[in-house]
Parts: sequence; C-alpha cells; structure tokens
Amino acid sequence: METSCSEAYIGRENCIFLYLCAQIYLSKTDMDISHIEHLGIAVKSIEAHLPYYETVLGLKCYNMEVIEDQKVKTAFFQVGQTKIELLEPLSEDSTIAKFIEKRGEGVHHIAFAVHSLQVALEEAELKGVQLIDKAPRNGAESLQIAFLHPKSTGGVLTELCDLKI
Ligand code: ZN
Repeated sequence: METSCSEAYIGRENCIFLYLCAQIYLSKTDMDISHIEHLGIAVKSIEAHLPYYETVLGLKCYNMEVIEDQKVKTAFFQVGQTKIELLEPLSEDSTIAKFIEKRGEGVHHIAFAVHSLQVALEEAELKGVQLIDKAPRNGAESLQIAFLHPKSTGGVLTELCDLKI
C-alpha cells in the first residue's frame, strides 16, 4: 500500500485526526456551500423564452410558480444538480421589472445551496458582507432563502438557499 509523505512523517492515525480537525474547523469558518442551486434569469416573458429552453436546449420546464411577495412568475428547468429559474415580472414595481429596465434581460442572480442558511448568514455578516435579508425567508420551491447585497459580492446578486433534504 502506498503511503504519502505526510502519512509517513506524522503517522496514519494522526493524519486522519488532523484531517477531521481541519474539517470541523472549516465547517465552522466558511459558509459550507454544497453546489449552485440555481441561476436566476430575468425575462420580460417566460412564454416567449420557453421555445429556446425546451426546443433548442432540450430542457423540460417542470414547475411554474407565482411568488406573490416578489411579484414574479417563475419557471424552473433542471440541469444536473442545478436549475435555471426564469423570472418574469408581474408588475412594474417588482424588482425584476426594475432590473430589466436598467440592465435588460439576462442573468439576475446566482443561488448557492448551503448546509445551514442561518450559519451561512452569520458567517457572511461576520466577514463584513452586507445582507439584504438578515433572516431566512420563504422562496420559490419551498426553499428558505436569503440574499446578499451585490455591493459586497463583486456586483453579483447572490442568493443562499437552505439545502433541501
Ligand atoms: Zn433565485
């Protein structure tokens, strides 16, 4: 059996112990992101864009949902572990309508799945990130979500989602 340099130097048991310590340390000091949960894309009309996603890309829209408090209609497509979320404004004062007016249709936000949304928010705030949502709230697909301000994230509106179990 091959032994790595570090294993030969400090012993296999100690190596495993240090690895576990590092895991515990890391899990307490980062946001513990699992994967990209979805990409949010702002569109004027979901219906107008369905042929591109379904016929050209060959994806299947498996869910459409209206999120009343955000005044948007959403459509979801699964791509591996990640989803595409189309966002269509239902009123002119919705944030999506304002986004499209200012920047046109296109990528609106990136959403990361985290193992604990509350812990991730605390970590982000501790590291000086400006939070849009200080506490988790209800999002599409029965997920608990929270947004980080693009001023703190290099201009990318960032959403955190509690990992669905
Ligand atoms: Zn989203």
